[in-house]
Amino acid sequence: MGRQNFSELHANGSLMATPISYSSKLPGEQASIFSVMAQKARKYKALDVSQGYPDFEMDPDLQNLVTGAMQQGKNQYAPLEGLAALREQISLKIQLLHKKTYDYLSEVTVTNGATQALFLAITAFVRPGEKVLILKPAYDSYEPAVTISGGIPVPIPLKDPEYEINWEALEENLGPDTRMIIINNPHNPSGRVWSREEMNKLAGLLQDTQTLLLSDEVYEHLVFDGRTHISVSAVSQLAERAIVCASFGKIFHNTGWKMGYCVAPRELMKEIQKIHQINVFCVHHPTQSALAEYLKEPRHYLELSHFYQTKRDYFLRLIRNSRFQWTPAQGTYFQLLSYHSITDQPDVEYAEWLVREHRISTIPVSVFNHNRKDWKQLRICFAKKDETLEQAAEVINKL
Ligand code: PMP
Ligand code: GLN
Repeated sequence: MGRQNFSELHANGSLMATPISYSSKLPGEQASIFSVMAQKARKYKALDVSQGYPDFEMDPDLQNLVTGAMQQGKNQYAPLEGLAALREQISLKIQLLHKKTYDYLSEVTVTNGATQALFLAITAFVRPGEKVLILKPAYDSYEPAVTISGGIPVPIPLKDPEYEINWEALEENLGPDTRMIIINNPHNPSGRVWSREEMNKLAGLLQDTQTLLLSDEVYEHLVFDGRTHISVSAVSQLAERAIVCASFGKIFHNTGWKMGYCVAPRELMKEIQKIHQINVFCVHHPTQSALAEYLKEPRHYLELSHFYQTKRDYFLRLIRNSRFQWTPAQGTYFQLLSYHSITDQPDVEYAEWLVREHRISTIPVSVFNHNRKDWKQLRICFAKKDETLEQAAEVINKL
């Protein structure tokens, strides 16, 4: 009887269920700009230099290794933390590059892309009411992950126009309730790369605090003009409080495989693996087996900086007479282009106009910024075939 009183009648006389009430955990969250621009690119049959992925094929040797692993029957669950052979190779790679030894048995976890590693690290440590400092602009998965955990994302905007670190703001916001700082080096979207001095400065700032460091290093092998990637792993005062996340998709040209990993000191890793266990338990077994083999050859990742610098330089040469302005990306496979001498249109509008009228899909940078601050910049992904870069340049040069 009571229930009927609360229910409404459909037009045909049947009872409508009581509406289920809930409140969104992410009320402000909108469709990711990557989906939005990719969809627009399809709709307008546009050249897509927006979302960060290569349009050329990956190494067939790696594909064959996966096929081989499947044929060898590596098709059941892998260990939750990842195949030991792969974790060992990850640990050896970090040892080779950064002279830091992570115990592969207890300090490495293979994840469903870096995105899952980031989510695990945030979920494992951030409690309601704790602050997480995020240098902005930032990759769009950090902030919602903090919010879902009840944490308070605190944006620390990088400084205009070269994306310098705002040390004063970082220091001001470091306190007993600051659970974590999230950094991304090399930085998407600016391409900026941290120097050793900056890493040391961060170490000094975090000394004597209880703040964890989450370091997103998915573009670790894409650094240009003779720069070196200084991983957080290489700075012992940072490594002892850090979770470092990486992506195979970004380095082996197969973003759709969603393979990544994180490394952290044993005690931190224990907590991460508790969440990983109930989240996905483990990730794709044959691919892990293939990556373990492929990583044995350091050439596969050591050649990437040269490969992508050549692409960056080619693209920038092609657009040297355009009306855009830029500082060459120090790392990543993204190049920012400033258009303030062309129009004062907001960047989202300009990007939408470009995809509609000129059939080129780019990423407006303001979507990653605190309060959507608009520096009139578009992000171009140059992980593309030369002919794609030539077509993009042709459009850009006409604007
Ligand atoms: N962090 C940054 C800065 C990124 O640009 C991306 C996009 N690839 C990721 C994390 C996610 O990496 P993955 O595709 O391995 O999840
Ligand atoms: N990291 C990629 C970029 O910045 C996109 C990844 C995604 O679509 N979530 O373009």
